[in-house]
Amino acid sequence: MPTPLLALRDASFPMADCAVCGKSVLTYVALDDDNESAERRICAHCDTPIAESLKWVSPGELEQAGYYFGPPPAEGEKGGCSSGCGSCSVKKS
Ligand SMILES: [Zn+2]
Repeated sequence: MPTPLLALRDASFPMADCAVCGKSVLTYVALDDDNESAERRICAHCDTPIAESLKWVSPGELEQAGYYFGPPPAEGEKGGCSSGCGSCSVKKS
């Protein structure tokens, strides 16, 4: 059963500073190999374990950090408003 989008919008996401990526990154939980009750936070990009304190951010803050929340924009609609108004779209070369 898919998670309702409304519930996702109310969610918060764990971010932390990754030294390897050099920025705030989204993290996920991984279980320690030796102790299945031990959780580790891993960088979603480079799989580096992160010991930094987590920041729980809203979907809006996640988007400000450069993550898309929800479906990515369709190909060819980047930079424009997709309404075809012609004034705010990126000019094609
Ligand atoms: Zn990283």
